[in-house]
Amino acid sequence: MKNINSFITRIDSKGSKKGPLRGCTVAIKDNISTKGIRTTCGSAMLKDYIPPYDATVVEKIKAAGATIVGKTNMDEFGMGTTTETSYFGPTLNPHNEDLVAGGSSGGSAAAVASGEAMFSLGTDTGGSIRCPAAFCGVVGIKPTYGLVSRYGLIAYANSLEQIGPIARTVEDAAKLLDVIAGVDVKDSTSLDIGKGGKYAKYASGEVDGMTVGVPVELIKGMDKNVLEPFESSMEQMKEKGCTIKEITLPSLEKAVAAYYIIAMSEASSNLARYDGVRYGVASGFGGDWNQMFSASREIGFGKEVKRRILLGTYALSAGYQDRYYAKAQRVKAWVRKEFENAFKEIEVVASPTMPVLPFKLGEGEKDPLKMYLSDSNTVPVNLAGLPAISIPAEWDKDSGPVGVQFVGARFQEKKLIRAASSIER
Ligand code: GLN
Repeated sequence: MKNINSFITRIDSKGSKKGPLRGCTVAIKDNISTKGIRTTCGSAMLKDYIPPYDATVVEKIKAAGATIVGKTNMDEFGMGTTTETSYFGPTLNPHNEDLVAGGSSGGSAAAVASGEAMFSLGTDTGGSIRCPAAFCGVVGIKPTYGLVSRYGLIAYANSLEQIGPIARTVEDAAKLLDVIAGVDVKDSTSLDIGKGGKYAKYASGEVDGMTVGVPVELIKGMDKNVLEPFESSMEQMKEKGCTIKEITLPSLEKAVAAYYIIAMSEASSNLARYDGVRYGVASGFGGDWNQMFSASREIGFGKEVKRRILLGTYALSAGYQDRYYAKAQRVKAWVRKEFENAFKEIEVVASPTMPVLPFKLGEGEKDPLKMYLSDSNTVPVNLAGLPAISIPAEWDKDSGPVGVQFVGARFQEKKLIRAASSIER
């Protein structure tokens, strides 16, 4: 096998002899801070940045006895769907090296799929755990907003993102979630849901006649290579006594547009700190401060990041804020409301994770809009702050795995784990 480029930095560490993850190997996405180990966000801007502290999730994983084996490749600052915007080059799909691994946590999913790590951590702002999990044939969970601490996560769009587990089975992913979930005084957006937790025990394959809603908005116009495996997963659930109901959530049609306005706006603000003085590569350019900042940002950021900073700054600028940002916030509230109403009648929402099979390497560069649109099924979940899981259904003979996504009400991770384990092979 070729080097699939899952890791930016490999680490030679030893786990402890105690804890629920003793003997387990974990790979960590390179936007999650690791004390003394460089954390690049897949960017030239941070290629030499060494954090002075560990993210809370990293502390928890170490305390659980795991061995951290490396920092994984990702789209630059999480901005992408293929891991091709990384300064360190793309991650290849372990099932077919002509295809992308998905993104932005492509390295984390590929490391698990190829056996380089048993578990990994990804981050999901608009699908970045679920998309690569789907493309690489592994399981990925995007937790409810607030379930997992974001302390030490380098922000892309903080109102949308969560850290979450990637593993080969539903039970393993749930085990890692057990380790990282919980309130953290260092992250004021993390929530205390009491004991909660203990997710792994729900991966029993039992579903107890669950009611599953399938939004028409997430299946219409879908590639038949994706739709057929999805439908056969729904058949399997029916055989287990579940009720599958078609539902309609019209707000989802506006979700991609709203997501990109909010994500880019937050990114333009979050990335303002990289000026080559406090953070990031310094251009060494003399000039006045403005010229110096510009020169550092010119060499530090890649093309996609620059595009998003420009569009985000525009969306927030005087005169346009109401037209774009405020309107996107209203769509966000609408999406949330529609999901809330739906969960009065159904227990989980199901859809294909991605509307398409994995892209060929290089396809994304040519058509960024096509990439943005392929996030149609994942971004509504982030707008609504809900939990979701992606699990491999059937395998397409040419391009490998096809992912099925389940979405639950807030803090109903256990239902997702139940539903997913019922169709797991
Ligand atoms: N593809 C989406 C984006 O580019 C999602 C990325 C993510 O979840 N980090 O913004």
